[in-house]
Amino acid sequence: MKRLVILGSTGSIGQSTLSIVEQFPERYSVASLAAGRNVDEAFAQAVRWRPRVVSLATEELAGELAARLKQAGVTGVEVVHGTAGTVVCSTLPEADFVVSAIVGVSGLEATHAALLAGKPVGLANKECMVAAGEILTAAARERNVPILPIDSEHNAVHQCLRVGAHNEIKTIWLTASGGPFRTTPLDQFASITPEQALKHPTWVMGRRITIDSATMLNKGLEVIEACRLFDVTPSQVRVMIHPQSTVHSLVEYVDGSILAQISVTDMRLPILYALAYPERPASSLTFDLAALKHLDFEQPDFARFPCLRLAFEAAEKGGAHCIALNAADEVAVDAFLARRIPFTGIADTIERVLALTPESHPETISAVLEADRGARARAAELIV
Ligand code: MG
Repeated sequence: MKRLVILGSTGSIGQSTLSIVEQFPERYSVASLAAGRNVDEAFAQAVRWRPRVVSLATEELAGELAARLKQAGVTGVEVVHGTAGTVVCSTLPEADFVVSAIVGVSGLEATHAALLAGKPVGLANKECMVAAGEILTAAARERNVPILPIDSEHNAVHQCLRVGAHNEIKTIWLTASGGPFRTTPLDQFASITPEQALKHPTWVMGRRITIDSATMLNKGLEVIEACRLFDVTPSQVRVMIHPQSTVHSLVEYVDGSILAQISVTDMRLPILYALAYPERPASSLTFDLAALKHLDFEQPDFARFPCLRLAFEAAEKGGAHCIALNAADEVAVDAFLARRIPFTGIADTIERVLALTPESHPETISAVLEADRGARARAAELIV
Protein backbone atom coordinates (compact mmCIF):
# COMPACT_ATOMS: atom_id res chain seq x y z
CA MET A 1 0.00 0.00 0.00
CA LYS A 2 1.48 3.33 -1.05
CA ARG A 3 0.38 6.25 1.11
CA LEU A 4 0.18 9.33 -1.09
CA VAL A 5 0.72 13.03 -0.55
CA ILE A 6 -1.13 15.09 -3.15
CA LEU A 7 0.12 18.66 -3.46
CA GLY A 8 -2.58 20.45 -5.45
CA SER A 9 -5.38 18.00 -4.67
CA THR A 10 -8.25 20.18 -5.91
CA GLY A 11 -6.68 20.88 -9.33
CA SER A 12 -7.19 18.67 -12.35
CA ILE A 13 -4.09 16.48 -11.76
CA GLY A 14 -4.98 16.20 -8.06
CA GLN A 15 -8.52 15.08 -8.88
CA SER A 16 -7.28 12.62 -11.50
CA THR A 17 -4.84 11.21 -8.92
CA LEU A 18 -7.71 10.71 -6.48
CA SER A 19 -9.69 8.92 -9.18
CA ILE A 20 -6.74 6.50 -9.52
CA VAL A 21 -6.78 5.95 -5.74
CA GLU A 22 -10.50 5.26 -6.06
CA GLN A 23 -9.81 2.68 -8.80
CA PHE A 24 -6.91 0.96 -6.99
CA PRO A 25 -7.87 0.98 -3.30
CA GLU A 26 -5.66 -2.05 -2.66
CA ARG A 27 -2.60 -0.16 -3.96
CA TYR A 28 -3.02 3.45 -2.81
CA SER A 29 -4.30 5.48 0.10
CA VAL A 30 -4.20 9.19 0.94
CA ALA A 31 -1.84 10.45 3.66
CA SER A 32 -2.15 14.21 3.15
CA LEU A 33 -3.62 16.77 0.80
CA ALA A 34 -2.54 20.33 -0.03
CA ALA A 35 -5.69 21.88 -1.40
CA GLY A 36 -5.03 25.58 -2.00
CA ARG A 37 -8.07 27.87 -1.88
CA ASN A 38 -11.05 25.68 -2.67
CA VAL A 39 -12.53 25.02 0.79
CA ASP A 40 -15.65 23.24 -0.53
CA GLU A 41 -13.60 20.72 -2.49
CA ALA A 42 -11.04 20.38 0.34
CA PHE A 43 -13.91 19.59 2.73
CA ALA A 44 -15.36 16.97 0.38
CA GLN A 45 -11.92 15.39 -0.10
CA ALA A 46 -11.16 15.39 3.64
CA VAL A 47 -14.49 13.67 4.36
CA ARG A 48 -14.02 11.13 1.58
CA TRP A 49 -10.32 10.28 2.08
CA ARG A 50 -9.71 11.05 5.76
CA PRO A 51 -6.10 12.20 5.26
CA ARG A 52 -4.07 12.84 8.41
CA VAL A 53 -3.24 16.39 7.27
CA VAL A 54 -4.89 18.89 4.92
CA SER A 55 -3.21 22.18 4.03
CA LEU A 56 -4.94 25.27 2.68
CA ALA A 57 -3.43 28.46 1.26
CA THR A 58 -4.20 30.79 4.18
CA GLU A 59 -4.85 30.69 7.92
CA GLU A 60 -8.37 32.01 7.34
CA LEU A 61 -9.27 29.25 4.87
CA ALA A 62 -7.70 26.65 7.18
CA GLY A 63 -9.86 27.94 10.05
CA GLU A 64 -12.95 27.68 7.88
CA LEU A 65 -12.17 24.08 6.92
CA ALA A 66 -11.37 23.07 10.50
CA ALA A 67 -14.71 24.51 11.66
CA ARG A 68 -16.65 22.69 8.96
CA LEU A 69 -14.93 19.38 9.72
CA LYS A 70 -15.69 19.80 13.41
CA GLN A 71 -19.31 20.60 12.67
CA ALA A 72 -19.56 17.49 10.48
CA GLY A 73 -18.09 15.36 13.29
CA VAL A 74 -14.93 14.51 11.28
CA THR A 75 -11.99 13.94 13.62
CA GLY A 76 -8.35 13.00 13.11
CA VAL A 77 -7.74 15.44 10.23
CA GLU A 78 -5.19 18.11 11.10
CA VAL A 79 -5.64 21.36 9.14
CA VAL A 80 -2.53 23.46 8.43
CA HIS A 81 -1.84 26.34 6.04
CA GLY A 82 0.58 28.23 3.85
CA THR A 83 3.95 27.13 2.50
CA ALA A 84 4.84 25.63 5.88
CA GLY A 85 1.61 23.63 5.68
CA THR A 86 2.50 22.20 2.27
CA VAL A 87 5.90 21.17 3.69
CA VAL A 88 4.16 19.41 6.62
CA CYS A 89 2.07 17.52 4.04
CA SER A 90 4.99 16.57 1.79
CA THR A 91 7.29 15.38 4.57
CA LEU A 92 4.75 13.41 6.61
CA PRO A 93 6.75 10.46 8.03
CA GLU A 94 4.24 7.80 6.97
CA ALA A 95 3.94 9.08 3.37
CA ASP A 96 5.51 6.94 0.64
CA PHE A 97 5.03 9.02 -2.50
CA VAL A 98 4.43 12.70 -3.27
CA VAL A 99 2.43 13.92 -6.27
CA SER A 100 3.60 17.48 -6.94
CA ALA A 101 0.79 19.21 -8.82
CA ILE A 102 0.52 22.70 -7.36
CA VAL A 103 0.54 25.10 -10.31
CA GLY A 104 3.39 27.63 -10.36
CA VAL A 105 6.34 27.95 -8.02
CA SER A 106 4.24 27.79 -4.83
CA GLY A 107 4.82 24.04 -4.74
CA LEU A 108 8.59 24.41 -4.87
CA GLU A 109 9.49 24.28 -1.17
CA ALA A 110 7.22 21.31 -0.51
CA THR A 111 8.61 19.40 -3.49
CA HIS A 112 12.20 20.10 -2.46
CA ALA A 113 11.44 19.13 1.15
CA ALA A 114 9.85 15.86 -0.02
CA LEU A 115 12.99 14.89 -1.95
CA LEU A 116 15.23 15.83 0.99
CA ALA A 117 13.01 13.63 3.18
CA GLY A 118 13.77 10.76 0.77
CA LYS A 119 10.31 10.54 -0.80
CA PRO A 120 9.87 9.67 -4.49
CA VAL A 121 8.09 12.47 -6.34
CA GLY A 122 5.66 12.29 -9.24
CA LEU A 123 6.11 15.67 -10.85
CA ALA A 124 3.21 17.30 -12.67
CA ASN A 125 4.46 20.78 -11.94
CA LYS A 126 6.85 21.82 -14.68
CA GLU A 127 7.45 25.28 -13.20
CA CYS A 128 9.34 23.67 -10.29
CA MET A 129 11.69 21.91 -12.70
CA VAL A 130 12.13 25.04 -14.83
CA ALA A 131 12.85 27.33 -11.89
CA ALA A 132 14.85 24.98 -9.68
CA GLY A 133 15.64 21.89 -11.73
CA GLU A 134 19.32 21.77 -10.80
CA ILE A 135 18.50 21.96 -7.08
CA LEU A 136 15.70 19.37 -7.24
CA THR A 137 17.64 16.84 -9.31
CA ALA A 138 20.66 17.25 -6.99
CA ALA A 139 18.43 16.53 -3.96
CA ALA A 140 16.94 13.47 -5.70
CA ARG A 141 20.40 12.15 -6.57
CA GLU A 142 21.68 12.77 -3.05
CA ARG A 143 18.78 10.86 -1.46
CA ASN A 144 18.65 8.31 -4.28
CA VAL A 145 14.92 8.82 -4.94
CA PRO A 146 13.31 9.07 -8.37
CA ILE A 147 11.52 12.09 -9.85
CA LEU A 148 8.87 10.55 -12.11
CA PRO A 149 7.42 12.90 -14.70
CA ILE A 150 3.64 13.15 -14.92
CA ASP A 151 3.72 15.76 -17.70
CA SER A 152 2.51 13.57 -20.61
CA GLU A 153 5.49 14.28 -22.90
CA HIS A 154 8.12 13.64 -20.25
CA ASN A 155 6.27 10.61 -19.07
CA ALA A 156 6.41 9.30 -22.64
CA VAL A 157 10.15 10.08 -22.82
CA HIS A 158 10.71 8.35 -19.48
CA GLN A 159 9.03 5.24 -20.90
CA CYS A 160 11.03 5.37 -24.15
CA LEU A 161 14.29 5.83 -22.21
CA ARG A 162 13.82 2.54 -20.37
CA VAL A 163 15.08 0.66 -23.42
CA GLY A 164 18.37 2.53 -24.02
CA ALA A 165 21.42 3.90 -22.22
CA HIS A 166 21.97 7.60 -21.57
CA ASN A 167 24.97 7.82 -23.92
CA GLU A 168 22.84 6.25 -26.69
CA ILE A 169 20.35 9.15 -26.72
CA LYS A 170 20.60 11.30 -29.83
CA THR A 171 17.48 13.49 -29.66
CA ILE A 172 14.48 13.75 -27.39
CA TRP A 173 11.50 14.77 -29.55
CA LEU A 174 8.74 16.49 -27.61
CA THR A 175 5.45 16.54 -29.47
CA ALA A 176 3.11 19.54 -29.34
CA SER A 177 -0.46 19.93 -30.55
CA GLY A 178 0.43 23.34 -31.95
CA GLY A 179 -2.58 24.79 -30.13
CA PRO A 180 -5.55 26.56 -31.71
CA PHE A 181 -3.45 28.98 -33.83
CA ARG A 182 -1.31 26.51 -35.73
CA THR A 183 -2.76 27.69 -39.06
CA THR A 184 -4.08 31.17 -38.13
CA PRO A 185 -2.66 33.86 -40.46
CA LEU A 186 0.17 35.67 -38.64
CA ASP A 187 -1.37 39.12 -39.19
CA GLN A 188 -4.35 38.07 -37.04
CA PHE A 189 -2.26 37.17 -33.97
CA ALA A 190 -2.45 40.65 -32.41
CA SER A 191 -6.25 40.49 -32.28
CA ILE A 192 -6.59 37.00 -30.74
CA THR A 193 -8.98 37.13 -27.76
CA PRO A 194 -8.75 35.21 -24.46
CA GLU A 195 -11.87 33.24 -25.49
CA GLN A 196 -10.18 32.07 -28.71
CA ALA A 197 -6.94 31.23 -26.90
CA LEU A 198 -8.72 29.25 -24.18
CA LYS A 199 -10.07 26.73 -26.72
CA HIS A 200 -7.49 23.94 -26.87
CA PRO A 201 -8.02 21.38 -29.65
CA THR A 202 -7.14 18.15 -27.83
CA TRP A 203 -6.52 18.53 -24.09
CA VAL A 204 -8.78 20.01 -21.43
CA MET A 205 -6.50 21.82 -18.97
CA GLY A 206 -6.18 24.81 -16.63
CA ARG A 207 -6.30 28.39 -17.94
CA ARG A 208 -2.62 29.30 -17.83
CA ILE A 209 -1.44 26.06 -19.42
CA THR A 210 -4.08 26.43 -22.15
CA ILE A 211 -2.78 29.91 -23.06
CA ASP A 212 0.79 28.58 -22.78
CA SER A 213 -0.15 25.88 -25.28
CA ALA A 214 -1.49 28.50 -27.67
CA THR A 215 1.81 30.46 -27.51
CA MET A 216 3.85 27.22 -27.25
CA LEU A 217 5.59 28.68 -24.21
CA ASN A 218 4.36 25.54 -22.49
CA LYS A 219 6.44 23.45 -24.88
CA GLY A 220 9.38 25.74 -24.21
CA LEU A 221 9.07 25.09 -20.46
CA GLU A 222 8.93 21.40 -21.32
CA VAL A 223 12.21 21.67 -23.27
CA ILE A 224 13.87 23.04 -20.13
CA GLU A 225 12.12 20.41 -18.00
CA ALA A 226 13.42 17.66 -20.32
CA CYS A 227 17.01 18.95 -20.11
CA ARG A 228 16.87 18.75 -16.32
CA LEU A 229 14.91 15.53 -15.90
CA PHE A 230 16.93 13.55 -18.42
CA ASP A 231 20.30 15.30 -18.07
CA VAL A 232 20.61 16.33 -21.73
CA THR A 233 21.58 19.62 -23.42
CA PRO A 234 19.03 21.93 -25.11
CA SER A 235 20.53 20.95 -28.48
CA GLN A 236 19.49 17.33 -27.75
CA VAL A 237 15.84 18.33 -27.33
CA ARG A 238 13.63 19.19 -30.28
CA VAL A 239 9.96 19.98 -30.71
CA MET A 240 7.66 18.53 -33.32
CA ILE A 241 4.09 19.66 -33.94
CA HIS A 242 1.77 16.67 -33.97
CA PRO A 243 -1.84 17.89 -34.12
CA GLN A 244 -3.43 14.53 -33.15
CA SER A 245 -1.64 14.48 -29.75
CA THR A 246 -1.49 10.69 -30.06
CA VAL A 247 2.27 10.19 -29.94
CA HIS A 248 3.10 11.78 -26.60
CA SER A 249 6.83 12.05 -27.35
CA LEU A 250 9.72 10.16 -28.91
CA VAL A 251 13.36 9.29 -28.28
CA GLU A 252 15.79 8.96 -31.15
CA TYR A 253 18.83 6.82 -30.41
CA VAL A 254 22.27 7.15 -31.99
CA ASP A 255 21.72 4.08 -34.18
CA GLY A 256 18.77 5.80 -35.88
CA SER A 257 15.97 3.99 -34.05
CA ILE A 258 13.12 6.20 -32.87
CA LEU A 259 10.86 5.00 -30.05
CA ALA A 260 7.46 6.58 -29.53
CA GLN A 261 4.85 6.27 -26.80
CA ILE A 262 1.19 6.17 -27.87
CA SER A 263 -1.83 6.14 -25.58
CA VAL A 264 -5.16 7.84 -24.94
CA THR A 265 -4.99 11.57 -24.17
CA ASP A 266 -5.91 11.04 -20.54
CA MET A 267 -3.70 12.26 -17.68
CA ARG A 268 -4.69 9.29 -15.54
CA LEU A 269 -2.30 7.16 -17.58
CA PRO A 270 0.92 9.12 -16.82
CA ILE A 271 -0.26 9.53 -13.20
CA LEU A 272 -0.75 5.77 -12.83
CA TYR A 273 2.64 5.13 -14.49
CA ALA A 274 4.38 7.42 -11.99
CA LEU A 275 2.53 6.03 -8.97
CA ALA A 276 3.17 2.41 -9.91
CA TYR A 277 6.70 2.68 -11.37
CA PRO A 278 8.49 0.36 -12.03
CA GLU A 279 5.35 -1.79 -12.22
CA ARG A 280 2.61 -1.49 -14.86
CA PRO A 281 -0.80 -2.27 -13.39
CA ALA A 282 -3.59 -3.29 -15.78
CA SER A 283 -5.94 -0.38 -16.45
CA SER A 284 -9.04 0.37 -18.50
CA LEU A 285 -7.29 3.22 -20.36
CA THR A 286 -7.15 1.44 -23.70
CA PHE A 287 -6.25 3.04 -27.01
CA ASP A 288 -8.12 2.08 -30.17
CA LEU A 289 -5.31 1.56 -32.66
CA ALA A 290 -7.72 0.61 -35.46
CA ALA A 291 -9.38 4.04 -35.19
CA LEU A 292 -6.05 5.75 -35.80
CA LYS A 293 -6.00 6.83 -39.42
CA HIS A 294 -2.93 9.03 -39.70
CA LEU A 295 -0.19 10.74 -37.70
CA ASP A 296 0.99 14.14 -38.89
CA PHE A 297 4.25 15.82 -37.89
CA GLU A 298 5.55 19.25 -38.80
CA GLN A 299 8.38 21.53 -37.66
CA PRO A 300 7.27 24.46 -35.49
CA ASP A 301 7.84 27.93 -36.89
CA PHE A 302 9.65 30.30 -34.49
CA ALA A 303 8.08 33.34 -36.23
CA ARG A 304 4.63 31.99 -35.35
CA PHE A 305 5.72 30.85 -31.89
CA PRO A 306 8.34 33.35 -30.62
CA CYS A 307 7.85 32.03 -27.05
CA LEU A 308 9.40 28.74 -28.16
CA ARG A 309 12.49 30.53 -29.47
CA LEU A 310 12.75 32.49 -26.19
CA ALA A 311 12.56 29.25 -24.22
CA PHE A 312 15.41 27.64 -26.19
CA GLU A 313 17.48 30.78 -25.59
CA ALA A 314 16.69 30.65 -21.86
CA ALA A 315 17.49 26.91 -21.79
CA GLU A 316 20.98 27.64 -23.16
CA LYS A 317 21.62 30.28 -20.47
CA GLY A 318 19.94 28.30 -17.65
CA GLY A 319 19.58 29.59 -14.07
CA ALA A 320 17.98 33.03 -13.76
CA HIS A 321 16.88 33.11 -17.40
CA CYS A 322 14.75 29.99 -17.00
CA ILE A 323 13.24 31.42 -13.81
CA ALA A 324 12.51 34.73 -15.57
CA LEU A 325 10.97 32.99 -18.59
CA ASN A 326 8.44 31.22 -16.39
CA ALA A 327 7.75 34.17 -14.07
CA ALA A 328 7.35 36.74 -16.85
CA ASP A 329 5.04 34.42 -18.74
CA GLU A 330 2.74 33.93 -15.76
CA VAL A 331 2.40 37.70 -15.28
CA ALA A 332 1.93 38.27 -19.02
CA VAL A 333 -0.72 35.51 -19.35
CA ASP A 334 -2.69 37.04 -16.46
CA ALA A 335 -2.48 40.43 -18.18
CA PHE A 336 -3.64 38.92 -21.47
CA LEU A 337 -6.60 37.17 -19.80
CA ALA A 338 -7.48 40.49 -18.13
CA ARG A 339 -7.34 42.12 -21.61
CA ARG A 340 -4.53 44.43 -20.57
CA ILE A 341 -2.11 43.27 -23.27
CA PRO A 342 -2.68 41.65 -26.68
CA PHE A 343 -1.85 37.99 -27.37
CA THR A 344 1.42 39.04 -29.01
CA GLY A 345 2.24 41.05 -25.88
CA ILE A 346 2.93 37.80 -24.02
CA ALA A 347 6.09 37.05 -26.03
CA ASP A 348 7.06 40.75 -26.08
CA THR A 349 6.87 40.98 -22.29
CA ILE A 350 8.93 37.80 -21.81
CA GLU A 351 11.56 38.95 -24.30
CA ARG A 352 11.97 42.30 -22.56
CA VAL A 353 12.18 40.71 -19.09
CA LEU A 354 14.79 38.22 -20.33
CA ALA A 355 16.84 41.08 -21.79
CA LEU A 356 16.79 42.77 -18.37
CA THR A 357 17.80 39.59 -16.52
CA PRO A 358 21.49 39.30 -15.58
CA GLU A 359 22.97 35.84 -16.00
CA SER A 360 23.12 34.01 -12.65
CA HIS A 361 22.59 30.55 -11.22
CA PRO A 362 20.70 30.63 -7.90
CA GLU A 363 21.81 27.76 -5.70
CA THR A 364 19.12 27.70 -3.04
CA ILE A 365 15.32 27.56 -3.14
CA SER A 366 15.10 30.98 -1.47
CA ALA A 367 17.44 32.48 -4.09
CA VAL A 368 15.26 30.92 -6.80
CA LEU A 369 12.14 32.44 -5.27
CA GLU A 370 13.86 35.82 -4.97
CA ALA A 371 14.82 35.72 -8.67
CA ASP A 372 11.24 34.70 -9.45
CA ARG A 373 9.83 37.68 -7.53
CA GLY A 374 12.28 40.03 -9.25
CA ALA A 375 11.27 38.81 -12.70
CA ARG A 376 7.58 39.13 -11.84
CA ALA A 377 8.10 42.70 -10.65
CA ARG A 378 9.96 43.57 -13.87
CA ALA A 379 7.19 42.04 -15.98
CA ALA A 380 4.51 43.92 -14.03
CA GLU A 381 6.38 47.21 -14.49
CA LEU A 382 6.62 46.64 -18.24
CA ILE A 383 2.88 45.93 -18.52
CA VAL A 384 1.65 49.04 -16.65
MG1 MG B 1 2.81 18.55 -21.46
